Amino acid sequence: MRECDWTQLCKLNSGNTICGVSAVVVRPGNGETGKNVKTVFFKAVVDVEKCMGCSICTKVCPTTAIFMRARFAVVEEYRCSGCRACVQACPFQALTLEPTDKVTDPRASVALVRPPWTIGEEKAAWVSQRKAAARELCQRAGLHPDQQICMCTDDLLAEDVAAAVLAGKTQPDDLVLAVGLRSGCTVLCLSALFRILKAAGIETKSPPANGWNWYPGTPSQDSFPDEFDAKYGALGYRFSEDKKMMNQVLSSASTDQTEISDERL
Ligand code: SF4
Ligand code: SF4
Repeated sequence: MRECDWTQLCKLNSGNTICGVSAVVVRPGNGETGKNVKTVFFKAVVDVEKCMGCSICTKVCPTTAIFMRARFAVVEEYRCSGCRACVQACPFQALTLEPTDKVTDPRASVALVRPPWTIGEEKAAWVSQRKAAARELCQRAGLHPDQQICMCTDDLLAEDVAAAVLAGKTQPDDLVLAVGLRSGCTVLCLSALFRILKAAGIETKSPPANGWNWYPGTPSQDSFPDEFDAKYGALGYRFSEDKKMMNQVLSSASTDQTEISDERL
């Protein structure tokens, strides 16, 4: 049996979508590299009879697909990833998810019918063109490059997101549409996303006023002050040692080395 290498892949590798309504489905894609894309089968639709114009839905959408027009919420074609966040947030049950191939916008001048569409098709190309830089960016972000960081995708690794950032997808909503993170639960990948953006020196747009869709700065052991060692050492916490060991793992990963040394093992 192999010893634990502390990459935490055991905790993070769910291997499938967790969307409760199958609005997004993991589909094999980019067969050459084995990387997958997502297919979006459902889109949010506003019932104008029920919409009260409160704009809450616009503040939770991870792709900024919803905007207000003439008091009603409107969902922009080809930006909705079917994550269902707006459906859950609307206090008046004015939003539903509908199959993409049956949806029309009643207020559009031209009927918009959208077939299922895919997310992340360029991912493999971005990684192959920037692999070394992407892995190095992951190391600076305190993430293992082979770590799955989005539970709602089948195979979205930290290096995939880093490569997309290096390819110019530098805002959270752009990254949803580029590689699929935040297209399911919208929450679990946020911390890793912001760590990669911060390590790349990228400022993000401000979240909507009173919105709750972005939560930058989730604390991790990297952000713990040194005093924590003295404060919590008696309880068995060894933050500095953990940090040192994780840095060894990340350094090895960025140079494809496999051996690490640790006096605790
Ligand atoms: S949250 Fe519901 S009621 Fe409020 S603007 Fe959005 S669709 Fe309309
Ligand atoms: S919150 Fe999700 S389901 Fe609603 S419009 Fe935005 S992407 Fe689509």
